[in-house]
Amino acid sequence: MSAAVLDGSALARKIRQELAPRAAALAKKLGRKPALAIVSSARPDRATLSYRQSQKKACEEVGIWWETLARDWKSADEILAALKDGKPFEGAILDLPLNDGVDVERLLARLPPESDVEGVTPFNFGRLFEIKAYAEIQRRRLVAPCTALAVAELLRETRAPLSGKNAVVLGRSNIVGKPAAHLLSCLDLTVTLCHSKTRDLAELVKRADVVVAAMGKPKSVRASWIKPGAIVIDAGVSEEDGALCGDVEAGAAEKAGWLTPTVGGVGPVTTAMLLSNSVLLAERKAR
Ligand code: NAP
Repeated sequence: MSAAVLDGSALARKIRQELAPRAAALAKKLGRKPALAIVSSARPDRATLSYRQSQKKACEEVGIWWETLARDWKSADEILAALKDGKPFEGAILDLPLNDGVDVERLLARLPPESDVEGVTPFNFGRLFEIKAYAEIQRRRLVAPCTALAVAELLRETRAPLSGKNAVVLGRSNIVGKPAAHLLSCLDLTVTLCHSKTRDLAELVKRADVVVAAMGKPKSVRASWIKPGAIVIDAGVSEEDGALCGDVEAGAAEKAGWLTPTVGGVGPVTTAMLLSNSVLLAERKAR
């Protein structure tokens, strides 16, 4: 059996097409395009630069204006002041890591939740963890961390029955693993959240109908662990010998029912969800 490819690029295109008329309606209301500030250090690394390029391209396609605020930031307060005193922005993207002097915890705690297009401020994170059903995200107009949303949307895209199925999420960061595990439980999966201290990862993965890998440990999920027909969403991106590779061994494609590619999988949907959060927050503000 060979896994069906879970095509993130195609899903992202569909999401961007749905967002474009909403962004146009906002532009009409505001008298200008909705705008995002991309806060970055003056010397971003290669990965940040490439992610930023894809963000900008997607913004242009949807009709969102962006401006990069790239400086040697001295503190969180300096960033907050730049966002408040400059041109009007509907939202801010924080290209972490920023400069050493910037207290990220303070920055996230003080960033206005209504500008938090990445869904990472304590307020928005807390609101997300109040819900029990995935549909409440839309009903309550909530924002969530973009990669976690991308994982959930890719999973829904399979149209596979999910309720009561077993899922393992490998990784418990605040931006990927932890919120992804919560969103999967909101899709009525029974979720095991794994981390570096988890014992017998192989056995847990072998029982899983859905595997979400978000460790940043290249090829560490062995093909032999994958349950036949499982849905495997590989968010991991690492560089090995100059090539990008995921957390899951390529041979998993022989056993999985669905598998995301490393390039054109979770990444483009993450960017699309960033724009989706941006449009949603801009609509909330414009009301
Ligand atoms: P992170 O903050 O470093 O978290 C990694 C997580 O993996 C931690 O919770 C860690 O456990 C866990 N882990 C490490 N080794 C493990 C092991 N052997 N078994 C089980 N769990 C293990 O990373 P992140 O920011 O969440 O990113 C994870 C990956 O996703 C990276 O490859 C990153 O590049 C990728 N990513 C992709 C996108 C995208 O759009 N495609 C977006 C964001 C991130 P502990 O908590 O115990 O340390």
